[in-house]
Amino acid sequence: MSDEGIFVHQFELGPWDNFIYLVGDKATRTCAVVDPAWDADFILKEAEALGVDITHVLCTHSHFDHVNRVDALLDKRDIPVHMLGEEIDFSGFRSENLERHRPGDLLHIGKHLEITFMHTPGHTPGSTTYRIADAVVTGDTMFVQGCGRCDFVGGDPEVMFGTLKGLVESLPRDTRMYPGHNYGPVTVSTLDEELAENPYLQHATVADFVAHRMEGKTPGAHLPPPPDWP
Ligand SMILES: [Zn+2]
Repeated sequence: MSDEGIFVHQFELGPWDNFIYLVGDKATRTCAVVDPAWDADFILKEAEALGVDITHVLCTHSHFDHVNRVDALLDKRDIPVHMLGEEIDFSGFRSENLERHRPGDLLHIGKHLEITFMHTPGHTPGSTTYRIADAVVTGDTMFVQGCGRCDFVGGDPEVMFGTLKGLVESLPRDTRMYPGHNYGPVTVSTLDEELAENPYLQHATVADFVAHRMEGKTPGAHLPPPPDWP
């Protein structure tokens, strides 16, 4: 699939270096926002500056720092909110217009944009990577030279090992990788670069990976602040 006719716009918000994305169709000037958090007005202004309308909300997972402005955005736009069923069941996340998805679901926006819901558990049970043409938006599954923590409630480092392996083995090496946080030396990478540089992709065995990922961490730790879904 070519990326002709679509766009991915990345920007950073909040105290934890979250990346927010507008992914859209150039022909119809419509887009989805991935993980609307921290500042709904800023997100709407970014869309306005690009001359595009936000028509969908995509959630990579339910953690507070990725969903904390979903409701604020819905106050301004009556649009659907998409999340995998596994994540809804795990977290109890609720919002208006919430649409439950299965792994492999496709969402079409405008003329050219097709988005695939890839189930990539490990950080949380229903973590989702969105495949968009020649790119993936990975949330807290993969970062540039990093990966999401597996010690929070619902995290599982053994599952994460399989998820990361699956991503790099199933997708073309030149796939661009857009992470959920700005934790690396650059803001976007490719799977090829991650295979070479990401320390979490260098482990031959699941035991080695688990030891690295969980080093100094206590499994089952809660995230601050605790979510309080309406
Ligand atoms: Zn997270």
